Amino acid sequence: MEFDLIDLIRARCAVTRADVHLGIGDDAAILAPPPGHDLVVSTDTLVAGVHFPPGTDAHDLGWKALAVNLSDLAAMGATPAWALLALTLPEASRTFVEAFADGFAELAAQHRVALVGGDTTCGPLTITVVVHGFVPPGQALRRDGATVGDLVFVTGTLGDAAGGLRCLDPRDARAAQLFEAPGDTREALLARLQRPTPRVAAGSALRGLASAGIDVSDGLVADLGHIAARSGVGIELDAASLPASSALLALFDDAERLALQAAGGDDYELAFTASAARERDILRDLARLGGGATRIGRVVTGSGVRLLDATGTVIPLRRRGWEHFA
Ligand code: ADP
Ligand code: MG
Repeated sequence: MEFDLIDLIRARCAVTRADVHLGIGDDAAILAPPPGHDLVVSTDTLVAGVHFPPGTDAHDLGWKALAVNLSDLAAMGATPAWALLALTLPEASRTFVEAFADGFAELAAQHRVALVGGDTTCGPLTITVVVHGFVPPGQALRRDGATVGDLVFVTGTLGDAAGGLRCLDPRDARAAQLFEAPGDTREALLARLQRPTPRVAAGSALRGLASAGIDVSDGLVADLGHIAARSGVGIELDAASLPASSALLALFDDAERLALQAAGGDDYELAFTASAARERDILRDLARLGGGATRIGRVVTGSGVRLLDATGTVIPLRRRGWEHFA
């Protein structure tokens, strides 16, 4: 049964690449990184009931399991190439695996990512993906490169996924009310939660332009906090400049929207710093790629991330972002 499932996954994830000398089917894969590049590697796990509600659509899960990993490569400025998939399933369900593999394959095809191996085990539903990508030597976007005087930017819009999650949460008093919203508004938020877009092209475009970068997975303030800590600087954000989608604007009042944008998480946008001299090139290049980017703040002396209102007063945040073991 396990081997039937592996065959099924292999058949559906059909991206082939010349740099895969041996893929699924042996004890390990044999891969040929392009000469003269750095290999960039990352892994991320999704656990049922922690990272997604039980009963989440299998196709969406397959997409998201790869998307969150590609987002990490994007945040490094890397071009994705190969993936491994460790699947732990409560039962050997063909229909689940078919839909899951189709969702995974749909995004893999968009980025020419070859699935080269994995593991299939029985247990509580857990999905671990490993991804590999390449960057020219020394050009990866790291968290430790921000300097005082740099500007802070973010791609796309913030808070949509967290807004979508609110629409799904039956314990949220407003969930029912949100469901009354026009279908396309609600669907726009849910799509961002269930099928996030990893900003791979934006990440590569930022090589040589950005001084530091991170993907927004836990929440903007929490994630920028990592850049601040690793770079030994402080970051000030202008609350009014945080980009919001029309769907988020339609469904939430100002205070709720700001909380979702600043700390919601699951956005998979890229937050990054760059010198002011690069601003014009960055805004032009990222607008060309679609999604665009917005200037949201600046790098200052000190430490931590502060959210400021129009008068420069610090806005207190109830939470900064998602924390495991909190
Ligand atoms: P082994 O017992 O040697 O680890 P497995 O039976 O686990 O071998 O896997 C057989 C082959 O199938 C290997 O090439 C492995 O990488 C691949 N594989 C197993 N599970 C998956 C999966 N979920 N997705 C992709 N490849 C898989
Ligand atoms: Mg194995």
